[in-house]
Amino acid sequence: MHQDRELTFVSAVASHHQKRQFTPDEHAHEYYQTSLLSAVMQGVYDGTVSIDELLKHGDFGLGTFNALDGEMILLDGIAYRLDGDGKATIAQGKALTPYAAVINFAPTVSLALDASVGKQAFENGLDSIAEARNLFYAVRFTGQIKHIKYRNVLRQERPYKPLLEVVKTQAEFELSETDGTILGFRCPDYAVGIGVPGYHLHFISSDRSTGGHVLDYTLTSGQIEIDHTSSLHLELPETRDFSDANLSAGASADSIRKAEGD
Ligand code: ZN
Repeated sequence: MHQDRELTFVSAVASHHQKRQFTPDEHAHEYYQTSLLSAVMQGVYDGTVSIDELLKHGDFGLGTFNALDGEMILLDGIAYRLDGDGKATIAQGKALTPYAAVINFAPTVSLALDASVGKQAFENGLDSIAEARNLFYAVRFTGQIKHIKYRNVLRQERPYKPLLEVVKTQAEFELSETDGTILGFRCPDYAVGIGVPGYHLHFISSDRSTGGHVLDYTLTSGQIEIDHTSSLHLELPETRDFSDANLSAGASADSIRKAEGD
C-alpha cells in the first residue's frame, strides 16, 4: 500500500513533467553561496559573511553559523538559527556564516502532494521535474509531515576538526505527525565540493520552534514548489584557513554524503 502510494506520486509528477515544456528563466535571479562545502568538510568554520549581507542576496536558503554553532534556515526573508538543543531562534544580523546558500525564491512549479511519500520516492519525483538537470534547483515543501529526523551541529573550538569527525557528535531529533517547511537545494553531480550533490534540505516547524539539517522524512500532504537558476555567485573567503585548506581532499561525493547523512 505504501509502495503504491509512492508510485502514484511519482506518476503524477511524471505526467506533470510531460505536459510542461521547459522554459528558460526570464527573471534573472541568482544562487548565491558563501565558501564551498569542500572547505566546510576540511574544517573551515570561521564565518566571513554576515546574515545582514546574506539577506541582500536571498530570502530563502540554508547554511551554518560561525564555528558551526548551529544550522541555518532562511525562510520568507528571515534567518533562523537551529541550535544543538533543536531550538529555533531568529539569527542576529551581525552573526557570521562560513557556509550558506541563498536565492530569492521565485517558484515556477507548484504541485500539491496528497499522498504519503518517503524521502527516496519524493526526491526521485522531484528529479523527474528537474528537466534541466545541470542547473541548480531550489525546492520547498510546506505541509504535513508524518515523520522527520534531523540533526544539528554543535559549536566547535579551534583547532577545528573535519566535518566527518564533528558529525559523530551531532545532536539528532525526531518528530512524528507534525507540520512545517522543508527547503533547500538540488545541486548537480558535477558541483560536488561546491555543494552537496543531490538534495540538501533543512527543516523548520510551522510554529518556528524547532528545526535542523534533514536526515530522513516521510511526508503526508502539502505543497511542493520548485525554482531553478542558471546563474551562480560564489563568494570565496579570503582567509588563511580557506587558502591553506586541501579542498580536493574533502570533495568526494561519498565523504560529503556521509557528512550530510545521506
Ligand atoms: Zn545542512
